[in-house]
Amino acid sequence: MSEQERFIDFNRPYMTGKELYYIAEAHFMGKLAGDGPFTKRCHAWLQKNLNCDRAFLTNSCTAALEMSALLLDISPGDEVILPSFTFVSTANAFVLRGAVPVFVDIRPDTLNLDEKYLPFALTERTKAIVPVHYAGVSCDMDPIMALAKERGIHVVEDAAQGIISTYKGKFLGTIGHLGTLSFHETKNVICGEGGALLVNEPGFVQNAEIFREKGTDRSRFFRGEVDKYSWQSIGSSFLPGELVAAFLWAQLEEADSIIGKRRKIWDYYHQILEPLEKSGLLRRPIIPDYCNHNAHMYYVLLDKRLDRDIVLAKLKSKGIQAVFHYVPLHSSPAGLKYGRCSGEMTVTDATSESLIRLPLWIGMTERDQDRAFDILKSL
Ligand SMILES: *Cc1c(COP(=O)(O)O)cnc(C)c1O
Repeated sequence: MSEQERFIDFNRPYMTGKELYYIAEAHFMGKLAGDGPFTKRCHAWLQKNLNCDRAFLTNSCTAALEMSALLLDISPGDEVILPSFTFVSTANAFVLRGAVPVFVDIRPDTLNLDEKYLPFALTERTKAIVPVHYAGVSCDMDPIMALAKERGIHVVEDAAQGIISTYKGKFLGTIGHLGTLSFHETKNVICGEGGALLVNEPGFVQNAEIFREKGTDRSRFFRGEVDKYSWQSIGSSFLPGELVAAFLWAQLEEADSIIGKRRKIWDYYHQILEPLEKSGLLRRPIIPDYCNHNAHMYYVLLDKRLDRDIVLAKLKSKGIQAVFHYVPLHSSPAGLKYGRCSGEMTVTDATSESLIRLPLWIGMTERDQDRAFDILKSL
Protein backbone atom coordinates (compact mmCIF):
# COMPACT_ATOMS: atom_id res chain seq x y z
CA MET A 1 0.00 0.00 0.00
CA SER A 2 1.36 3.43 -0.87
CA GLU A 3 1.30 6.09 1.82
CA GLN A 4 -1.94 7.72 0.63
CA GLU A 5 -3.62 4.30 0.57
CA ARG A 6 -2.75 3.46 4.17
CA PHE A 7 -5.46 1.92 6.33
CA ILE A 8 -7.02 4.55 8.57
CA ASP A 9 -7.89 3.05 11.95
CA PHE A 10 -10.84 4.50 13.79
CA ASN A 11 -8.63 5.46 16.74
CA ARG A 12 -4.93 5.59 17.49
CA PRO A 13 -3.89 6.65 20.96
CA TYR A 14 -1.73 9.77 20.99
CA MET A 15 1.42 9.83 23.14
CA THR A 16 3.07 13.08 24.07
CA GLY A 17 6.50 11.44 24.33
CA LYS A 18 7.05 12.02 28.05
CA GLU A 19 4.96 9.15 29.38
CA LEU A 20 7.86 6.70 29.82
CA TYR A 21 10.06 9.43 31.27
CA TYR A 22 7.59 10.08 34.08
CA ILE A 23 6.98 6.36 34.59
CA ALA A 24 10.76 5.96 34.98
CA GLU A 25 10.74 8.81 37.50
CA ALA A 26 8.06 7.05 39.58
CA HIS A 27 10.09 3.85 39.31
CA PHE A 28 13.27 5.54 40.57
CA MET A 29 11.42 7.22 43.41
CA GLY A 30 10.12 3.80 44.40
CA LYS A 31 6.61 5.12 45.00
CA LEU A 32 4.22 2.83 43.19
CA ALA A 33 1.00 2.72 45.21
CA GLY A 34 -1.73 5.33 44.73
CA ASP A 35 -1.89 8.93 45.95
CA GLY A 36 1.86 9.54 45.52
CA PRO A 37 3.53 12.59 43.94
CA PHE A 38 2.17 12.06 40.40
CA THR A 39 -1.38 11.53 41.62
CA LYS A 40 -1.07 14.76 43.63
CA ARG A 41 0.14 16.62 40.54
CA CYS A 42 -2.80 15.28 38.53
CA HIS A 43 -5.25 16.28 41.28
CA ALA A 44 -3.79 19.79 41.44
CA TRP A 45 -3.93 20.12 37.66
CA LEU A 46 -7.58 19.08 37.49
CA GLN A 47 -8.55 21.35 40.37
CA LYS A 48 -6.75 24.37 38.97
CA ASN A 49 -7.42 23.96 35.25
CA LEU A 50 -11.02 22.79 35.49
CA ASN A 51 -11.73 25.02 38.45
CA CYS A 52 -13.29 22.39 40.69
CA ASP A 53 -13.29 21.97 44.47
CA ARG A 54 -11.75 18.52 44.63
CA ALA A 55 -10.61 15.97 42.07
CA PHE A 56 -9.85 12.31 42.75
CA LEU A 57 -8.15 10.01 40.28
CA THR A 58 -9.96 6.70 39.91
CA ASN A 59 -9.31 3.49 38.01
CA SER A 60 -11.89 4.46 35.40
CA CYS A 61 -14.86 6.68 34.77
CA THR A 62 -16.91 3.61 35.66
CA ALA A 63 -15.26 3.59 39.11
CA ALA A 64 -15.97 7.31 39.50
CA LEU A 65 -19.64 6.68 38.67
CA GLU A 66 -19.71 3.85 41.22
CA MET A 67 -18.24 6.20 43.82
CA SER A 68 -20.97 8.70 42.92
CA ALA A 69 -23.65 6.09 43.57
CA LEU A 70 -22.08 5.38 46.98
CA LEU A 71 -21.84 9.08 47.83
CA LEU A 72 -25.51 9.64 46.98
CA ASP A 73 -26.36 6.64 49.16
CA ILE A 74 -28.28 5.03 46.32
CA SER A 75 -30.38 2.20 47.76
CA PRO A 76 -32.62 -0.53 46.31
CA GLY A 77 -35.69 0.94 44.64
CA ASP A 78 -34.25 4.43 44.16
CA GLU A 79 -34.59 5.83 40.68
CA VAL A 80 -31.92 7.52 38.59
CA ILE A 81 -32.81 9.37 35.39
CA LEU A 82 -30.42 9.05 32.44
CA PRO A 83 -30.40 8.78 28.66
CA SER A 84 -30.68 5.36 27.02
CA PHE A 85 -28.19 6.55 24.40
CA THR A 86 -25.06 6.13 26.51
CA PHE A 87 -22.36 3.70 27.59
CA VAL A 88 -23.45 0.90 29.93
CA SER A 89 -21.51 2.26 32.93
CA THR A 90 -23.79 5.28 33.24
CA ALA A 91 -26.56 2.87 34.25
CA ASN A 92 -24.56 -0.01 35.71
CA ALA A 93 -22.91 2.04 38.46
CA PHE A 94 -26.34 2.80 39.94
CA VAL A 95 -27.90 -0.60 39.23
CA LEU A 96 -25.06 -2.12 41.30
CA ARG A 97 -26.54 -0.27 44.29
CA GLY A 98 -30.04 -1.50 43.49
CA ALA A 99 -31.33 1.56 41.63
CA VAL A 100 -33.80 1.50 38.74
CA PRO A 101 -32.46 3.41 35.71
CA VAL A 102 -35.26 5.50 34.21
CA PHE A 103 -34.49 6.24 30.57
CA VAL A 104 -35.51 9.44 28.81
CA ASP A 105 -35.13 10.24 25.13
CA ILE A 106 -32.38 12.47 23.72
CA ARG A 107 -32.50 15.82 21.92
CA PRO A 108 -32.30 15.58 18.12
CA ASP A 109 -29.62 18.30 17.94
CA THR A 110 -26.93 17.37 20.51
CA LEU A 111 -28.04 13.76 21.13
CA ASN A 112 -27.95 14.59 24.85
CA LEU A 113 -30.67 13.87 27.40
CA ASP A 114 -33.70 15.98 26.50
CA GLU A 115 -34.33 18.12 29.57
CA LYS A 116 -37.92 18.83 28.59
CA TYR A 117 -38.86 15.24 29.46
CA LEU A 118 -37.37 15.35 32.95
CA PRO A 119 -40.49 16.60 34.77
CA PHE A 120 -42.42 13.57 33.46
CA ALA A 121 -39.70 11.12 34.54
CA LEU A 122 -39.44 12.36 38.13
CA THR A 123 -41.14 10.41 40.90
CA GLU A 124 -40.84 10.52 44.67
CA ARG A 125 -38.22 7.76 44.33
CA THR A 126 -35.94 9.82 42.07
CA LYS A 127 -32.53 10.30 43.69
CA ALA A 128 -30.45 11.67 40.85
CA ILE A 129 -30.23 12.81 37.25
CA VAL A 130 -27.20 11.68 35.24
CA PRO A 131 -26.75 13.81 32.11
CA VAL A 132 -24.17 12.50 29.63
CA HIS A 133 -22.23 15.01 27.51
CA TYR A 134 -22.17 13.05 24.26
CA ALA A 135 -19.15 13.65 22.01
CA GLY A 136 -17.90 16.23 24.52
CA VAL A 137 -20.80 18.54 23.65
CA SER A 138 -22.57 19.80 26.73
CA CYS A 139 -26.10 19.13 27.87
CA ASP A 140 -28.18 22.22 28.58
CA MET A 141 -27.24 22.21 32.25
CA ASP A 142 -29.15 25.26 33.57
CA PRO A 143 -32.65 23.77 33.37
CA ILE A 144 -31.34 20.43 34.66
CA MET A 145 -29.70 22.06 37.70
CA ALA A 146 -32.75 24.25 38.35
CA LEU A 147 -35.09 21.26 38.35
CA ALA A 148 -32.75 19.24 40.58
CA LYS A 149 -32.58 22.10 43.06
CA GLU A 150 -36.35 22.52 43.10
CA ARG A 151 -36.84 18.79 43.75
CA GLY A 152 -33.93 18.38 46.17
CA ILE A 153 -32.15 15.74 44.09
CA HIS A 154 -28.56 15.45 42.88
CA VAL A 155 -26.92 15.70 39.49
CA VAL A 156 -23.97 13.53 38.44
CA GLU A 157 -22.47 14.62 35.12
CA ASP A 158 -21.10 11.77 33.05
CA ALA A 159 -18.36 13.87 31.43
CA ALA A 160 -16.37 10.80 30.33
CA GLN A 161 -15.95 12.37 26.88
CA GLY A 162 -16.00 15.98 28.00
CA ILE A 163 -12.62 16.99 29.44
CA ILE A 164 -11.98 20.74 28.90
CA SER A 165 -15.29 21.25 27.06
CA THR A 166 -17.38 24.03 28.56
CA TYR A 167 -21.01 24.99 29.12
CA LYS A 168 -21.43 28.76 29.37
CA GLY A 169 -17.75 28.99 30.31
CA LYS A 170 -17.85 26.28 33.01
CA PHE A 171 -15.92 23.05 32.52
CA LEU A 172 -17.98 19.90 32.09
CA GLY A 173 -17.97 17.77 35.21
CA THR A 174 -17.85 20.84 37.48
CA ILE A 175 -21.48 21.94 37.15
CA GLY A 176 -23.36 19.05 38.77
CA HIS A 177 -22.86 18.04 42.41
CA LEU A 178 -20.51 15.36 41.12
CA GLY A 179 -18.83 14.85 37.75
CA THR A 180 -16.87 12.00 36.21
CA LEU A 181 -14.10 11.95 33.58
CA SER A 182 -12.55 9.07 31.64
CA PHE A 183 -8.91 8.66 30.62
CA HIS A 184 -9.58 5.43 28.72
CA GLU A 185 -7.37 4.91 25.68
CA THR A 186 -10.22 5.98 23.38
CA LYS A 187 -10.75 9.38 25.01
CA ASN A 188 -8.89 12.68 24.41
CA VAL A 189 -6.53 12.57 27.39
CA ILE A 190 -5.53 9.03 28.27
CA CYS A 191 -3.67 6.64 30.56
CA GLY A 192 -4.99 3.29 29.30
CA GLU A 193 -7.67 2.75 31.92
CA GLY A 194 -8.34 5.64 34.27
CA GLY A 195 -10.77 8.31 35.32
CA ALA A 196 -11.52 11.01 37.84
CA LEU A 197 -14.30 12.00 40.18
CA LEU A 198 -14.86 15.75 40.47
CA VAL A 199 -16.54 16.73 43.73
CA ASN A 200 -18.28 20.08 43.50
CA GLU A 201 -20.26 19.83 46.72
CA PRO A 202 -17.86 20.15 49.69
CA GLY A 203 -20.10 17.95 51.84
CA PHE A 204 -19.13 14.92 49.75
CA VAL A 205 -15.35 15.32 50.06
CA GLN A 206 -14.76 13.41 53.28
CA ASN A 207 -16.82 10.40 52.25
CA ALA A 208 -15.22 10.44 48.81
CA GLU A 209 -11.81 10.04 50.47
CA ILE A 210 -13.08 7.22 52.66
CA PHE A 211 -14.97 5.26 49.97
CA ARG A 212 -12.01 5.52 47.61
CA GLU A 213 -9.58 4.18 50.23
CA LYS A 214 -11.35 0.90 51.04
CA GLY A 215 -13.70 2.49 53.55
CA THR A 216 -10.86 3.76 55.75
CA ASP A 217 -9.75 7.23 56.91
CA ARG A 218 -6.27 6.58 55.53
CA SER A 219 -6.21 9.96 53.74
CA ARG A 220 -6.70 11.77 57.06
CA PHE A 221 -4.01 9.58 58.62
CA PHE A 222 -1.51 10.56 55.89
CA ARG A 223 -2.29 14.22 56.55
CA GLY A 224 -1.59 13.64 60.25
CA GLU A 225 -5.18 14.39 61.28
CA VAL A 226 -5.64 11.04 63.06
CA ASP A 227 -2.96 8.88 64.67
CA LYS A 228 -4.11 5.60 63.11
CA TYR A 229 -6.51 4.71 60.37
CA SER A 230 -9.39 2.30 60.64
CA TRP A 231 -12.47 0.91 58.98
CA GLN A 232 -15.04 3.70 58.82
CA SER A 233 -17.67 2.57 56.31
CA ILE A 234 -18.21 0.54 53.16
CA GLY A 235 -15.80 1.38 50.37
CA SER A 236 -13.54 -0.12 47.78
CA SER A 237 -10.22 0.42 46.05
CA PHE A 238 -11.01 3.08 43.49
CA LEU A 239 -7.56 4.66 43.15
CA PRO A 240 -4.94 4.00 40.46
CA GLY A 241 -1.27 3.35 41.18
CA GLU A 242 1.48 5.87 40.51
CA LEU A 243 2.63 4.35 37.19
CA VAL A 244 -0.78 5.14 35.74
CA ALA A 245 -0.77 8.62 37.28
CA ALA A 246 2.73 9.25 35.86
CA PHE A 247 1.49 8.36 32.38
CA LEU A 248 -1.54 10.58 32.86
CA TRP A 249 0.62 13.49 34.02
CA ALA A 250 2.43 13.51 30.67
CA GLN A 251 -0.94 13.82 28.98
CA LEU A 252 -2.46 16.44 31.27
CA GLU A 253 0.56 18.69 30.73
CA GLU A 254 -0.26 18.63 27.02
CA ALA A 255 -4.05 18.55 27.32
CA ASP A 256 -4.71 21.92 25.74
CA SER A 257 -2.44 21.20 22.81
CA ILE A 258 -4.03 17.75 22.34
CA ILE A 259 -7.44 19.36 22.12
CA GLY A 260 -6.17 22.07 19.77
CA LYS A 261 -4.83 19.40 17.41
CA ARG A 262 -8.08 17.43 17.54
CA ARG A 263 -10.09 20.58 16.89
CA LYS A 264 -8.19 21.15 13.61
CA ILE A 265 -9.17 17.68 12.41
CA TRP A 266 -12.76 18.09 13.62
CA ASP A 267 -13.09 21.50 11.95
CA TYR A 268 -11.76 20.16 8.66
CA TYR A 269 -14.35 17.33 8.63
CA HIS A 270 -17.03 19.88 9.42
CA GLN A 271 -15.92 22.04 6.51
CA ILE A 272 -15.60 19.34 3.85
CA LEU A 273 -18.82 17.55 4.80
CA GLU A 274 -20.99 20.66 4.56
CA PRO A 275 -21.97 20.05 0.90
CA LEU A 276 -23.10 16.51 1.77
CA GLU A 277 -25.37 17.91 4.45
CA LYS A 278 -26.74 20.43 1.96
CA SER A 279 -27.49 17.64 -0.51
CA GLY A 280 -29.38 15.71 2.18
CA LEU A 281 -27.02 12.76 2.41
CA LEU A 282 -26.15 13.22 6.06
CA ARG A 283 -26.41 15.52 9.05
CA ARG A 284 -23.32 16.97 10.75
CA PRO A 285 -22.95 17.54 14.53
CA ILE A 286 -24.75 20.58 15.93
CA ILE A 287 -22.87 22.59 18.57
CA PRO A 288 -25.10 24.96 20.57
CA ASP A 289 -23.81 28.46 21.38
CA TYR A 290 -23.57 27.61 25.07
CA CYS A 291 -20.91 24.98 24.38
CA ASN A 292 -17.24 25.08 23.52
CA HIS A 293 -16.32 21.50 22.67
CA ASN A 294 -13.16 19.38 22.86
CA ALA A 295 -13.42 17.61 19.49
CA HIS A 296 -13.82 14.24 21.14
CA MET A 297 -15.69 12.74 18.21
CA TYR A 298 -16.79 13.43 14.67
CA TYR A 299 -20.04 11.65 13.87
CA VAL A 300 -22.57 11.97 11.08
CA LEU A 301 -26.20 10.87 10.96
CA LEU A 302 -26.89 9.15 7.65
CA ASP A 303 -30.04 9.88 5.71
CA LYS A 304 -32.77 7.25 6.10
CA ARG A 305 -32.36 6.00 2.54
CA LEU A 306 -28.79 4.80 3.28
CA ASP A 307 -28.09 1.45 4.92
CA ARG A 308 -25.63 2.14 7.71
CA ASP A 309 -23.98 -1.29 7.62
CA ILE A 310 -23.38 -1.04 3.88
CA VAL A 311 -21.84 2.41 4.34
CA LEU A 312 -19.50 1.11 7.05
CA ALA A 313 -18.51 -1.89 4.89
CA LYS A 314 -17.83 0.36 1.92
CA LEU A 315 -15.61 2.67 3.98
CA LYS A 316 -13.74 -0.33 5.35
CA SER A 317 -13.21 -1.87 1.91
CA LYS A 318 -11.55 1.40 0.89
CA GLY A 319 -9.30 1.45 3.94
CA ILE A 320 -11.26 3.61 6.39
CA GLN A 321 -12.50 2.24 9.67
CA ALA A 322 -15.67 4.05 10.69
CA VAL A 323 -17.85 2.64 13.47
CA PHE A 324 -21.39 2.83 14.81
CA HIS A 325 -22.05 3.68 18.44
CA TYR A 326 -24.39 2.88 21.31
CA VAL A 327 -26.89 0.08 21.20
CA PRO A 328 -29.67 1.74 23.27
CA LEU A 329 -29.74 0.62 26.89
CA HIS A 330 -33.53 0.56 27.25
CA SER A 331 -33.95 -2.35 24.81
CA SER A 332 -30.78 -4.30 25.73
CA PRO A 333 -31.14 -7.42 27.88
CA ALA A 334 -29.96 -5.74 31.11
CA GLY A 335 -31.88 -2.55 30.36
CA LEU A 336 -35.11 -4.53 30.02
CA LYS A 337 -34.37 -6.38 33.23
CA TYR A 338 -33.33 -3.48 35.46
CA GLY A 339 -34.69 -0.29 33.92
CA ARG A 340 -37.79 1.35 32.60
CA CYS A 341 -38.55 3.99 29.98
CA SER A 342 -40.21 7.30 30.62
CA GLY A 343 -41.89 8.17 27.33
CA GLU A 344 -40.95 7.21 23.79
CA MET A 345 -37.36 6.50 22.72
CA THR A 346 -37.90 7.68 19.15
CA VAL A 347 -34.80 9.87 18.76
CA THR A 348 -32.63 7.35 20.63
CA ASP A 349 -33.66 4.51 18.31
CA ALA A 350 -33.35 6.55 15.11
CA THR A 351 -29.94 7.93 16.14
CA SER A 352 -28.59 4.56 17.13
CA GLU A 353 -29.46 3.18 13.68
CA SER A 354 -28.10 6.03 11.57
CA LEU A 355 -24.99 7.28 13.38
CA ILE A 356 -21.45 6.61 12.24
CA ARG A 357 -18.25 7.89 13.80
CA LEU A 358 -15.36 8.81 11.51
CA PRO A 359 -11.69 8.29 12.41
CA LEU A 360 -10.30 11.17 14.48
CA TRP A 361 -6.80 10.96 15.90
CA ILE A 362 -3.72 13.11 16.00
CA GLY A 363 -1.53 12.15 13.06
CA MET A 364 -4.35 11.92 10.52
CA THR A 365 -3.88 14.15 7.53
CA GLU A 366 -6.35 16.21 5.51
CA ARG A 367 -5.67 13.75 2.73
CA ASP A 368 -6.94 10.91 4.95
CA GLN A 369 -10.04 12.94 5.68
CA ASP A 370 -10.55 13.73 1.98
CA ARG A 371 -10.55 10.01 1.28
CA ALA A 372 -13.40 9.53 3.76
CA PHE A 373 -15.23 12.44 2.12
CA ASP A 374 -14.82 10.98 -1.38
CA ILE A 375 -16.34 7.67 -0.30
CA LEU A 376 -19.27 9.34 1.45
CA LYS A 377 -19.85 11.62 -1.54
CA SER A 378 -20.16 8.65 -3.87
CA LEU A 379 -22.84 6.89 -1.79
C1 LIG B 1 -16.00 5.92 28.05
C2 LIG B 1 -17.27 6.20 28.76
C3 LIG B 1 -17.53 5.70 30.03
C4 LIG B 1 -16.64 4.70 30.72
O1 LIG B 1 -15.35 5.16 30.92
P1 LIG B 1 -14.25 4.14 31.52
O2 LIG B 1 -13.14 5.07 31.92
O3 LIG B 1 -13.89 3.22 30.41
O4 LIG B 1 -14.87 3.44 32.67
C5 LIG B 1 -18.69 6.07 30.68
N1 LIG B 1 -19.58 6.88 30.09
C6 LIG B 1 -19.38 7.38 28.87
C7 LIG B 1 -20.38 8.31 28.27
C8 LIG B 1 -18.22 7.05 28.14
O5 LIG B 1 -18.03 7.54 26.92
